[in-house]
Amino acid sequence: MESKKFILQEKDIPTAWYNVMAEMPVKPRPLLSPVTKKPLTPEDLYPLFSEEVSRQEFNDTDKWIEIPEEVRDMYRIWRPTPLVRARGLEKALDTPAHIYFKNESVSPVGSHKLNSAIPQAYYCKKQGVTNITTETGAGQWGAALSLAAKHFGLELAVYMVKVSYHQKPYRRSIMQTYGAEVIASPSMSTKAGRKIITDHPNYQGSLGTAISEAVELAMSTPNCKYTLGSVLNHVALHQTVIGLEAEKQMEMAGEYPDIVIGCFGGGSNFSGISFPFMRHNFSGERSTRFIAAEPASCPKLTRGVLQYDFGDEAGYTPLIPMY
Ligand SMILES: *Cc1c(COP(=O)(O)O)cnc(C)c1O
Repeated sequence: MESKKFILQEKDIPTAWYNVMAEMPVKPRPLLSPVTKKPLTPEDLYPLFSEEVSRQEFNDTDKWIEIPEEVRDMYRIWRPTPLVRARGLEKALDTPAHIYFKNESVSPVGSHKLNSAIPQAYYCKKQGVTNITTETGAGQWGAALSLAAKHFGLELAVYMVKVSYHQKPYRRSIMQTYGAEVIASPSMSTKAGRKIITDHPNYQGSLGTAISEAVELAMSTPNCKYTLGSVLNHVALHQTVIGLEAEKQMEMAGEYPDIVIGCFGGGSNFSGISFPFMRHNFSGERSTRFIAAEPASCPKLTRGVLQYDFGDEAGYTPLIPMY
């Protein structure tokens, strides 16, 4: 059995992220102010996010956005990540298809989340922010951000969905090892948390509630910003290092994908692997199919009604179009 590894070198780590927004023939609907119902501007997000990611969130003109050297320095710890031909799976499926997977689990925290945690922490540090907050469900994003916060010398508070806080104590320990404060959500430390505990004393938490708590803490703490691990444009942007590397590795394999598949929770790993390949569809050179695999238990793309809603429980976030 041949075992080619499609090995990339450090110099092959991308120097710029691919900004799909610049090339989308139909732009996504804008974020709206809950008060005026008018489209937001980058400045409107400055109180919440670092200024640089606020600008990235709205950037629909620059096709390439340079990756800062400090971020590439960190990417070097585990990037480029391997592309692996899944020969065992091909055999098990008895398929003539060639199946490859991009293995993002080799990062120090075991997921792709670090690709965005590092730039988000870096941009906060660069503008003089001292404290950051976030929420985490199973703990992957919280773990990634804890490492990034430690590296750049930021204090981090993570609201972890209560049920996961108890079910996954080792993820909690990873975050604490990197110096983060981990709070089971809902908690008594915020207005949003106190309200939901008062109304539903046994509530085991949700990402929506944990987001409210993290946003509330960021908004009420001086020199503190909020960070998000998926969903938004700037997170998808940072994750494009995955697809940009995969593109080079497929070239080494002498192949180009007919289909690109990603699992879809908030959309960040799917965006990361697919947007760079999509750009060849935009230019008309290719007609690759893209498949997002969503959980049946919480579908984000195929069920429900597409409408504006808050990204959290308490209604602190901008209005975002979603199913
Ligand atoms: C966070 C996470 C997901 C889901 O989030 P996306 O933003 O859709 O990528 C899926 N897999 C792993 C390993 C994760 O850490």
